[in-house]
Amino acid sequence: MRFEVTKALDAIEGRLSTDPLLTGAVVDLAELVRLGDLDGGGRPANLLRAGIVIDALSRQFGDGGVALYAVAARGLLSDTDLTSNERMVIRRWSDDGLVEVVPAGTPTLARVCEVAQLVGQPVITRAPLPGYQGVRYAPVGGPAGAGLDGGGVGTLAARHAVLSRRWQCPVPDCPSFGATGGPFAGGHLASSARADAGQPPPHLAPGGVPVCPRHEERLADMGPRPAAVPMAVRVGGVVVERFVVTAGRPVIVGRSPDDRDGVVLGPYLDEKAQRWVSRTHLTLELRGEELAVTDVSTNGTVVLGRTGPGGGARPVGLPRERPHPLGEWDLIQLHQGVEVGRADRMSGQTAAPAQPESVMGEAPTVAMRLPRP
Ligand SMILES: [Zn+2]
Repeated sequence: MRFEVTKALDAIEGRLSTDPLLTGAVVDLAELVRLGDLDGGGRPANLLRAGIVIDALSRQFGDGGVALYAVAARGLLSDTDLTSNERMVIRRWSDDGLVEVVPAGTPTLARVCEVAQLVGQPVITRAPLPGYQGVRYAPVGGPAGAGLDGGGVGTLAARHAVLSRRWQCPVPDCPSFGATGGPFAGGHLASSARADAGQPPPHLAPGGVPVCPRHEERLADMGPRPAAVPMAVRVGGVVVERFVVTAGRPVIVGRSPDDRDGVVLGPYLDEKAQRWVSRTHLTLELRGEELAVTDVSTNGTVVLGRTGPGGGARPVGLPRERPHPLGEWDLIQLHQGVEVGRADRMSGQTAAPAQPESVMGEAPTVAMRLPRP
């Protein structure tokens, strides 16, 4: 049982990040671990409940790669309702910049809502949040696993200008705003994207002064942040991979690219798609702010031009080896049902109920009384 729990916590770790390029929603970790009804009761606090909510987010968005931005007050690190192992794991996540731990006394939910507003992502909470205008969901238990309720009521803010600068905290080795460029994320990321991962949003003190949320120190402006676009691969309606294209670092996508930093699709393809998709199928590149796709495949690539989330798509066959500008909502089709597009324009756009892979593995059946689908 201990081994299964460790495996589940590792899987959860791969889906936690404080880089908004990789996350899909913002939460208060201390709230999640106490949502006893999600697993039918049991211990007052259980870190595996974070995994139940990650699975619910995955199903809601049809995205098996989306990460959770978790904020926790420092007190959670000494909460004796958690096991000593769980407290140690949260401390490690904090040190690695995967979870944002704020000082005791900081109103955690206010920071959760601030992050959500700055990066334009929903909040997942059961707290009432009076006056909050952003999109929110509430986690609910259900016979087929937890879900997200509330229908995402509210409006998503545009990404704040503070995210276009690079910030540095005066505290040495700050896991959020360190000199080496912020936290790196785990999970389904290509290794190149890992090295380029972004930073969390600063806390904005009165007057809009950027402050480190962990250390409450004023951040130094290190200049413009390189442009970066979060991308996702969707196979059969479910996002199976996420990666980031940054300026000056083209990314190769294919069945099995030679480039070790390439995005490998092979494991997700059925036999027919395996034969169709080339080992090196296409490259994605940022030129200034504009994203371009270049087909280098044997069987060709189609771009489905879209002007918004709904409506029809206009298919355009790409000429080989000629860069094609990719619109915000455009989808690249490598084969029927094998698509690449902007992660922030693809998540939540599933046509059919999707069943992304669970992070819980076999843990719930032994560690928790979790309803199984
Ligand atoms: Zn700091």
